[in-house]
Amino acid sequence: MLKQNEENEIPFNGEFEDSEEESEEFSEEDSEDDELQNKRKKKRKQLVNNNKRLIMNVSDTQYAAVKFVGKILNKFKLQYTPYLETQVWDFCWTDNAVLPETLARMQSHQRINHFPGMYCIARKNYLGKNLNKMAKQFPEEFDFYPKTWMLPSDISDLRQNIGKIKYFIVKPEASCQGRGIFLTKQVESIASEHCVVQRYLHKPLLIDGLKFDFRMYVLLAGCDPLRIYLFKEGLARFATQPYQQPNQMNAEEMCMHLTNYAINKDNPNFVFNTDEKQLDVGHKRSLSSVFKLLSEQTNIDELMAKIKDLIIKTFCSVQPFLQSNYTQPDNYANNMCFEILGFDILIDNAYKPYLLEVNHTPSFTADTPLDAMIKKNLIRDTIALMNINLKVKNDLQQLQKEQMQRRVLGKKPKLSNEEKKTLKLQAQIEREQYESQHLGNFEKIYPCDKSYDEYLQHAQKIYEEWTGANIRRNVKKENATERDKLPQQRQLQHSITIQGSIDSNNKPSMDPAKPSIRKSLYKHVHSKVFSNINPQKSMTELPQQQQAIEYKLQDGNDNEIASEDQQNNFKQQEKIERSKRPPSFYVMKSVKQGSELQLVDLFNYKRISIPETSPQSQPIMLQQQSLQISQQQQQQSPNFKSATQLARHFSIRKTNKSKLKPSESDQEAKKDLIQAVNQYSQFQQQQQQQSFFQSQQQHLQNQQQQPNGSFVKPKVFNLKLQPPHFKIPSLPILMQQQNYYKFRYD
Ligand code: ADP
Repeated sequence: MLKQNEENEIPFNGEFEDSEEESEEFSEEDSEDDELQNKRKKKRKQLVNNNKRLIMNVSDTQYAAVKFVGKILNKFKLQYTPYLETQVWDFCWTDNAVLPETLARMQSHQRINHFPGMYCIARKNYLGKNLNKMAKQFPEEFDFYPKTWMLPSDISDLRQNIGKIKYFIVKPEASCQGRGIFLTKQVESIASEHCVVQRYLHKPLLIDGLKFDFRMYVLLAGCDPLRIYLFKEGLARFATQPYQQPNQMNAEEMCMHLTNYAINKDNPNFVFNTDEKQLDVGHKRSLSSVFKLLSEQTNIDELMAKIKDLIIKTFCSVQPFLQSNYTQPDNYANNMCFEILGFDILIDNAYKPYLLEVNHTPSFTADTPLDAMIKKNLIRDTIALMNINLKVKNDLQQLQKEQMQRRVLGKKPKLSNEEKKTLKLQAQIEREQYESQHLGNFEKIYPCDKSYDEYLQHAQKIYEEWTGANIRRNVKKENATERDKLPQQRQLQHSITIQGSIDSNNKPSMDPAKPSIRKSLYKHVHSKVFSNINPQKSMTELPQQQQAIEYKLQDGNDNEIASEDQQNNFKQQEKIERSKRPPSFYVMKSVKQGSELQLVDLFNYKRISIPETSPQSQPIMLQQQSLQISQQQQQQSPNFKSATQLARHFSIRKTNKSKLKPSESDQEAKKDLIQAVNQYSQFQQQQQQQSFFQSQQQHLQNQQQQPNGSFVKPKVFNLKLQPPHFKIPSLPILMQQQNYYKFRYD
């Protein structure tokens, strides 16, 4: 039964307007000295007060019961500035949904009475979808929801069930108070509408011949992990016309089939409850009074167990979604949001409870003594359970201050996942202790002895399927196993190729004197080779189409890329023809910071051939990912010779046997090539500059040898080649413009 205490006797006066802050904001500006002084005093006083009282933002709530509990029972200071326009509140109560961004902006001591994303159960269509998905996997465990179809998408499934079901109840996707609801047998006429169609439960439990349903209040006190409390008191709402199973004559009698207060209160039959001490009369009664009545007919504990079970399962079905919307992952106490949800439950004549809907903004209108008492207590107990008080705020802020100081001093280490888990667990234990002592009229229903892990896990799976997270993970896994499976031979081939290049006398062009640079160059090429597109699959393993589409690879012979079989067939032919045609070259740039440049065989991703050292074999900057020239164009090109040389010098030998298809962008490729040649000549200039710097270096060293002590010699002198267009912000602008080299003292 409802806990009666002194506070219940405090009447509502409905006058909660204007906090001090508010009145000041709207007061007129006055320039007179004493007025100003007064104002300052007031402000100072207000600041002190702010630290003494919590600020409750009530700008977006219409309910006097909420303000009453905040101001009178909890001594909060009410604030009316729209809560999105100010951050100076500790606790916000809004009648509307909250966005993830709002939560993300909140500080750790602030609390708000909604979870972002709760529409996933609060809208009829989403609730239907989520529960249907769970019911597919657990048909018996999730049969507490009348069979539901979301139109128009589920129309074919609905058609298959038409014969089996007598009557359907049709509801708008997101509506309340019975608006737009009707009963029908003819679903064809609404096949293309956007609505929710449900099997009509035609055998409800009746009291005094009237249909009724329960409004149960559930507090979701945390979503990661779930913390669920059930308020022991609630409402039983009765229809006002004696119930008959639906037929053509009565299907439109809303006061017979719907139990909404909003619909029935206007019926002349409606009996209001006017005495809060007599809660078992009228068309709106207390939950406990109806339970008492039902306990004479059935086992109430069993019924309650079923109801709790369906509530927990409903939350399980959307837990991953709520968690993903909870944009405060470092809120270890998991307590910045809470939400009172109205669960509407109908009991059938076999005492089986059915969930009809979940309301995320249940009415807190307290227009009867019964409503006032229940709702006031509900809000009061919620605030107490959520531990919304000044001490908690001050402790949290103190902690934050300390953390900030440590961060400034560089003492704050980043928390590992393990440490975060421990903190979370610790916070949970603390909550557990506190909440068990401040339950009020709530009962904790989750976590509980029974495990709901399989439902949570399945919901997670559904969520990942929906977001595509599972695909990404599978791809990762697949790639990892593919990598393990990668034939030894293939790995060898790569390492031999690359190592071979390094060890060979084919010196790369960067800096022949620095093998370490060469190595890193190759290493980078190597990683590029493997990671660029599909890191694990060899090119020959990729489907032909993918090769063609993704890389648009062509060579100079206007041939198409061939499939693996074809490639084998062409093997011999290719060998013969190879000698006849110019080398194919596929070059891409990959510029690391600074001047490094790598060449990658885009076609084979196999072999990188580094030309012998010669003045011309310096790498050049090629802006395009692949270059292609046809024989014909090569001949037409005035730069043909140098281009071919370039190609030879910087090409990667094509070892794959393939036919290649003609390029549609030959002209562009030609331009690319010419540009490459130009860049090459620029490069030559740079080379000259480089030698200049080397001589400078020598000069500096010589200088150092002079014992006048006026010159500090660098330990190591590094020269780094800059590609022409590459700017180093740290160099003076003049030097940047002139493509100077960067040099550095280590
Ligand atoms: P609303 O949010 O508009 O109140 P509900 O889904 O709660 O919509 O339905 C309104 C009323 O219709 C319920 O209170 C209940 O009496 C009746 N009702 C809803 N669904 C069913 C159903 N499947 N079978 C029988 N009665 C239902």
